[in-house]
Amino acid sequence: MSGRPLLNRRLDGLGTTIFAEMSALALTTGAINLGQGFPDTDGPEAIREAAVRALRGGRGNQYPPGMGVPELRTAIVDHQRRFYGLNFDPDTEVLVTAGATEAIAAAMLALLEPGDEVIAFEPFYDSYAASIAMAGGVRVPLTLRAPDFRPDLDALRDAITPRTRLLLLNSPHNPTGMVLTRDEMTAIAELAVERDLIVVTDEVYEHLVFDGGEHIPLISLPGMRDRTVSISSAGKTFSFTGWKVGWVTASAPLLAAVRTTKQFLTYVASGPFQYAIAEALSLPDAYFTAFRDDLQTKRDLLADGLTAAGFEVYRPQGTYFITTDIAALGEKDALAFCRSLPERCGVVAVPNSVFYDDPDAGRTQVRFAFCKKQDILKEAAARLHG
Ligand code: PMP
Ligand code: GLN
Repeated sequence: MSGRPLLNRRLDGLGTTIFAEMSALALTTGAINLGQGFPDTDGPEAIREAAVRALRGGRGNQYPPGMGVPELRTAIVDHQRRFYGLNFDPDTEVLVTAGATEAIAAAMLALLEPGDEVIAFEPFYDSYAASIAMAGGVRVPLTLRAPDFRPDLDALRDAITPRTRLLLLNSPHNPTGMVLTRDEMTAIAELAVERDLIVVTDEVYEHLVFDGGEHIPLISLPGMRDRTVSISSAGKTFSFTGWKVGWVTASAPLLAAVRTTKQFLTYVASGPFQYAIAEALSLPDAYFTAFRDDLQTKRDLLADGLTAAGFEVYRPQGTYFITTDIAALGEKDALAFCRSLPERCGVVAVPNSVFYDDPDAGRTQVRFAFCKKQDILKEAAARLHG
C-alpha cells in the first residue's frame, strides 16, 4: 500500500474517543469509573420488562419503519406537548434515531455543504467535532469560561459570517453543566432569525436541570419552529444508555433532510427497545421529578467530596457531570492527571482539555460523572481525598 494515511484527513486527530480510553483504563485497573457518563443502575424495572415483552412478542425483531415505530413517535409527540406545550405531527415531524449521536451526525451530513461554518460552544461533546468534520464543515468554537461558563453573546454575534450555516447548541451542557437561561435562549433565537441560521439543539439532558431551574427548548421560541432541529435521547433520562434510542423533532422539510442521511447510516435501530421507550416516555411526572432529585442529591454529594479533596468545583446546574479545576491541587495537565489517576488512587475521570479546540482553555479541567450509586461516590471521594 502507498504511504498515504488510511484515515482521511478530515478526521485527523480524532482517534479513539476519550470515553473509550478512560473506560478501558477503569477496566484494566479496577478503578471506580467516574469518566464515561453512564449510570451504574439500570432504569425502571417496568421498562426493562417492556423491552422483554416486545422482544418475546415479536415486536421490533425485524426492521422497524424507517421513521421509528408509530407507538414511539406518538409517545415523543405526547412528551413534547406534556413538558413544553409543543405540537408535532408524528408522521412528518418526528424521526427515531440510533441515539442522539446518530441524529447529530445525520443532521450535519444533511445540512452542511463542504466549507460551511458551524458555531458551537466549547468545550464540546466529542462527537460534534467528528460529525462536522465528516460532513466537510468547519467548526467555529466559542469558548465558555470558568467559573460559570456563561456564553458570550456578543462573541456569538461577531462569530457569524456569510459562511455560517448553523449553530450547534447543547443545553444542559456537557461537560460544564451550564444551563442556558430563557434570556440567553431568546437572544440566540433572535440572532438565528436575524442572520437566517438553522440551529441544531442537543437536549439529551433535558430532564436533568437542578435547583428548580427549567429547560427551555429553543424550538419553542418565536421564529424558531421552522429553523430548529431538536435532538434528544432516552439514554440519560431513563438510564438505558446501551439501548441507543434517540429522536429528532423538527418541521417537515428539516426532518425530511435529516431522514435522508439517517436512512443511509443505520436505516433503523433498536427495534424492541423503541416499544419500551414509548412506555418510558409515558411514565408519570413523578418519575421524572424523582430521577432529577436523586441526581441532584448525588451532585451535591460528589461536589462536597471533591471540594474536601482540594479540587476547585464548578457546581453544575444540570447534566450528569461536575467540572473541576486541578490547578488548586498543584496539577498542570488534565490529560496526564486523568491517565495517572487510576494508578494513584483508583478513580477514573475525563480531561475536559480534549473537548476544546484550544487545549489551553481547559488545560487543568477535569470532569467527574455522578450518575453512580451513593456508596460509590463516597468511596471515590474518600480515595481522592486520601
Ligand atoms: N450529546 C451529549 C451532550 C451527550 O452527553 C451524549 C452522551 N449521552 C450524547 C449526545 C449521545 O447520546 P446517545 O447516547 O443517545 O447517542
Ligand atoms: N455522553 C457520554 C459522556 O459524555 C459518553 C458517550 C460515549 O461514550 N460516546 O460521558
